[in-house]
Amino acid sequence: MARLFSTSADESRVFKNQSALMPSFAPSALLHREAQILEIASALKPALSKARPQNLLIHGPTGTGKTSCARHVISQLSEYDAKVACIYVNCWENPSRQSILSVIAQKLKEALPRRGLADDEIFGRLIERLKYEKKTLVLVLDEVDRLMHQGESELLYGLARAQENHGVVIGIIGITNVPEIFYSLDERIRSSIRFKEIAFEKYSPLQLKDILRERARDSLIPGSYSDEVIALCAAQGARNNGDARIAIDALLQSALKADAMGKNRVEISDVRLVIERSADASLMKNANLMGENELLLMNILKDARDLGKTLTSGEIYSQFNARRAKAGKAAISERQILNYIQMFEAARMISAQLADDPNSKSGKTKLIKLIR
Ligand code: ADP
Ligand code: MG
Repeated sequence: MARLFSTSADESRVFKNQSALMPSFAPSALLHREAQILEIASALKPALSKARPQNLLIHGPTGTGKTSCARHVISQLSEYDAKVACIYVNCWENPSRQSILSVIAQKLKEALPRRGLADDEIFGRLIERLKYEKKTLVLVLDEVDRLMHQGESELLYGLARAQENHGVVIGIIGITNVPEIFYSLDERIRSSIRFKEIAFEKYSPLQLKDILRERARDSLIPGSYSDEVIALCAAQGARNNGDARIAIDALLQSALKADAMGKNRVEISDVRLVIERSADASLMKNANLMGENELLLMNILKDARDLGKTLTSGEIYSQFNARRAKAGKAAISERQILNYIQMFEAARMISAQLADDPNSKSGKTKLIKLIR
């Protein structure tokens, strides 16, 4: 019978499963992280006997597998024992105590009234729910540095004291690439959490090659790529601070390029083009090549990162011109500043997330932070 929605010409001769190269893909094997995975698992093991897990702070540069490893361990743990509720929350997406507690409520199927509840009330309900179901909670707070300001870190205190105060066992796994921030945390909070640190080092070029080879096997048609292609993409990740995400993305972009041209092989030249293009984008990363306004923006963002803060576009505008004024320079327009922000975004130096803002004309603002 004729195929209604696809002809052989439509079919990729490169991709077998493109989604295996996407950031959301959970690989079945996490190579070169056996030790860290075991360490996380053994810290959580007490939860199986209703004892308190060791709280963890997982840290290391971007793309070193922190999120993947933590998710891998909790998914096995919750499969193994339904009495351990394992919940993953990204604090970048849920930057307040209230939104984190709401996510937990939702995952525990605790319905909250539409009129909304105060944080403490939600917390109380969660505790009751866990008690009633005789459950232990393991909570992964990814990008937890996002909570280190405006009193949001109180949440950590409440969670860490849940056993003493309410007889409910809660284990916390924080993940961050700016662990320094925790040294400035309130002593009272720090001593109640007592994080054990697990460091994720950047991947070596050989490790990246292994990771890519495995990923290519899942995503590309056999024979459509060579080991040289893998090596070049791995080298791109290695040059960028041993970042597996960048290596995988280089392979994806190269394969997309080959596929778009209808080829049946990813060639070295495809990878080279992809790498050149990203070199253009990352030129901006080299401060020597930056203009004064780019440098100014960079400094504003760095200072914010060091304080564990995220800035709205409005905050950037006002800091920008305040700093220019200090240097005796005239203000520039918001439109111009926005251009610089967009340039940084295109070069993937920052991530910008849309959020509600009752104070702005459009009712929306962007929350902006440096990626690295
Ligand atoms: P981090 O949280 O440290 O920034 P991630 O866990 O998000 O890093 O990993 C980035 C990307 O690299 C993801 O696509 C992930 O699947 C992949 N990755 C990281 N480490 C490994 C590994 N050891 N084996 C296979 N894939 C990995
Ligand atoms: Mg991560």
